[in-house]
Amino acid sequence: MRIVISHSDEKTALSELEAHPAWPSRSCAATDPLGEPLVDPDIFYRPSKALAAKRVCTGCPVRIACRAYALGGSGWWEAYGVWGGMTSEERRAERRAAKKRQARVANRGDRPTPVPNWTPSTTQRALLDALRKQPDVREAASLLAIPYPNTRWVYSQVCRQLGFYPDELSVPDVLEAAARATAARSADNSGLGATA
Ligand code: SF4
Repeated sequence: MRIVISHSDEKTALSELEAHPAWPSRSCAATDPLGEPLVDPDIFYRPSKALAAKRVCTGCPVRIACRAYALGGSGWWEAYGVWGGMTSEERRAERRAAKKRQARVANRGDRPTPVPNWTPSTTQRALLDALRKQPDVREAASLLAIPYPNTRWVYSQVCRQLGFYPDELSVPDVLEAAARATAARSADNSGLGATA
């Protein structure tokens, strides 16, 4: 997980998330035809309702961006409530795990070299699609009905071709990196240049 401390206040960090094009259609803001909220916002802050809140996050169009924000990707991290499908305890654990991953990686020598203009193969694309539904390599392997070691190998290739060690990033961060690489390639191909 890339943790960049660039903002000191919550408002600035949140405004980056709110700039996401899918923010208005986020699942926790869904309303009925009369404009009444379909989801009680309290469930995101009640530990006994955490499972229900996590279910709302599943399939939310901004889940990955929301999770990255709540984990501190923009310099502010959320200490309370369910964000991006994670409870505050899960976010704390993930931040600790991310620090350990970064320390492990820092002790290694050369980094994998990213493939310029990276384009996922058909198998890699199928895996990335499965990981968007199930952000866990083992579960994605079951979804694809492919043995786990083969799926793990494909995942490892994706990470290395993007310039990361497979154990350096969490699955949602790999998905974000893949999306960034694809967007940069599309911008290059259209002659607009990378804007990420
Ligand atoms: S991921 Fe969850 S908390 Fe974040 S915007 Fe979507 S529904 Fe709301």
